[in-house]
Amino acid sequence: MQRRDFVAQFLAGGALVGSSADGMTPHNAAPGKISGIALPGEVVIERPLRGQPHSGKVLAAIQPHADDIPFFAGGTVAKLVSEGYTGYLIRTSNDEKAGSGTPGETILSNEGDNDEVAKALGLRKVFNLGYRNHQLDGISREEMRERLIFLIRLLKVDTVVCYDPWSPYEENPDHYVTAQVTEAACWMAGMDKDYPEHVAAGLLPHSVQERYYFARGPQLVNRIVDITPWVDKKVEANLANKTQGGAGENGARLRSRLAAQKLRLPILGNDDDTANREYIKHFFLDLDSKHLRGVPSDRELGRQYGLEWAEAFHYIGPAESMLDRYVAEHAVPL
Ligand SMILES: [Zn+2]
Repeated sequence: MQRRDFVAQFLAGGALVGSSADGMTPHNAAPGKISGIALPGEVVIERPLRGQPHSGKVLAAIQPHADDIPFFAGGTVAKLVSEGYTGYLIRTSNDEKAGSGTPGETILSNEGDNDEVAKALGLRKVFNLGYRNHQLDGISREEMRERLIFLIRLLKVDTVVCYDPWSPYEENPDHYVTAQVTEAACWMAGMDKDYPEHVAAGLLPHSVQERYYFARGPQLVNRIVDITPWVDKKVEANLANKTQGGAGENGARLRSRLAAQKLRLPILGNDDDTANREYIKHFFLDLDSKHLRGVPSDRELGRQYGLEWAEAFHYIGPAESMLDRYVAEHAVPL
């Protein structure tokens, strides 16, 4: 099933769009069933928040390749950072096979692009794990897991944005291995008997509380994030990927190709920089999104929820303790 159809079915299934007064209801949105249709009340629209409500919290955007977060979650990462998160970008592969030039040149230029992605999204620092591109299914998952656990403990990561580890039809081993290893690392980082040498070195166990999972294929979507105020940041992050991907400088290339045919598209403006930005916004993220990114248009998705631009996730957050609530309501003096 194409993702566009999946979303259509999801909507046709009658799932309700939940939204709290502050638009950010923290709840455990784990699926009641694995069917592709979230239960009524389980879809939350996450709207822009005032001020810096996430101040003091730490976000890790984890991607196999320099273009993954910009493609599918750039608006949400920019939103969370602008609302107070301290953010870090972790890239697991070396991107040696994506782009022109020799493998060495490709690695170097993608590394530079990835740094620019972090800057565009307001992320503080980049960690490159450097596993070979397209070969993550051959690595030691246990080794990568320990490296991610180390970073989660070191940085005290509260929230992760990554590929969905359980999305079917994902063909790229870098994507599903990174996602599955990340998911295990998120909870294992909080266990004090895992890698006790970390604790001896001064790191404390620290588990991840919130996960935003994005996918290229069918996914149980239970959170729609309104990225309207950050869509230009998302454009900026995609502009940064000049070496690989379907965004970068393709707008200028299209403008040049049309000019050779004595043609122009008014929507692309009158210079290369404008052409690149308008191409990303109107074609890459919207009109030709399915062809260029493999997912429905951000604008079309937003429209279905009464928003201008949106991104979709399977969100998993902390479950409220019913025991704590019960004690608070029922405990009496001895
Ligand atoms: Zn990728």
